Amino acid sequence: AKRTGGNRACFYNEIERDSRSHERIRLEAELKRAMLRDEFTIHFQPKIDCRVMKVVGAEVLVRWDHPERGLLSPGSFIDVAEESDLITRLGDRVLELACRQGRAWLDTGLSMPLAVNVSIRQLEKPGFTKRVLDILDMTGFPAGLLQLEVTETVAMAGPERVSEAARPLLEAGITFAIDDFGTGYSSLALLQRLPFETFKIDRSFISGVASDQHSRSIVQTILAMAKSLDYKVVAEGVETLEQQAFLMENGCAIAQGFLFARPMPADHFDAWAKAFRDR
Ligand code: C2E
Ligand code: CA
Ligand code: CA
Ligand code: CA
Repeated sequence: AKRTGGNRACFYNEIERDSRSHERIRLEAELKRAMLRDEFTIHFQPKIDCRVMKVVGAEVLVRWDHPERGLLSPGSFIDVAEESDLITRLGDRVLELACRQGRAWLDTGLSMPLAVNVSIRQLEKPGFTKRVLDILDMTGFPAGLLQLEVTETVAMAGPERVSEAARPLLEAGITFAIDDFGTGYSSLALLQRLPFETFKIDRSFISGVASDQHSRSIVQTILAMAKSLDYKVVAEGVETLEQQAFLMENGCAIAQGFLFARPMPADHFDAWAKAFRDR
């Protein structure tokens, strides 16, 4: 009886594994169709300089405007896109949409620095550098207003690759940020060899700063290190005034999070930014 049970469990695991991979294959096909149908859009989440309470930029976050399921967050599809070649097309699309909007804002007199997330698959693909420069060219968005966010783990996976791909972009005036800082396994020696200007402290540490000493110490350590190595820092996922106060006390002025605004479409962002200025 025991053996049967074991076999059955194994059998069910296989079914589960199988349907999971079917699910993935279906999602992949759906994503391809979504690309063709132009169903991806972008949202913007402001970054605030808390010393002067001014908007100093925005992070661009992809959304899938699914015909039946509504607006989907990247958590439900970015992994599948990243495991296939789709991420490069999706990434190019996001970058293009971002630069177009950034240019449109410039034309109305609003100079808004934009930070776009880049996946390792995109970075590693030959031609990445040229495509980024082409998109800037085509849209007329200034390189100096563009930042690329690369996750820490990704950056560590291939520092040579990353710095090689980054060089012409840096020369053009694009800056780089390490995303989710503190969650990967970075060695400082490696970090130093990468051309980053900014650390983004992961939300998991920020969410703990009001309640636990451990998170406080980690954030303080990151901030002290950033300061002595002359990096800029952005705190992500700031949700409460207590968190904001702690960050300010410890020298981190730039913050992003629901405390200020959720990611929103461009036209909402306009209205929100105006209300924020006039508040
Ligand atoms: P991320 O780069 O760490 O982006 C921050 C995420 O935290 C966003 O989730 C944002 O909506 C959320 N967030 C911001 N402030 C708060 C807060 O105060 N509280 C909480 N609970 N959450 C907050 P989102 O938009 O669902 O994106 C998830 C992840 O998907 C991103 O994490 C990024 O890794 C990835 N992603 C998003 N857009 C792109 C893209 O265009 N390309 C690539 N490769 N990845 C993307
Ligand atoms: Ca990011
Ligand atoms: Ca992040
Ligand atoms: Ca993250």
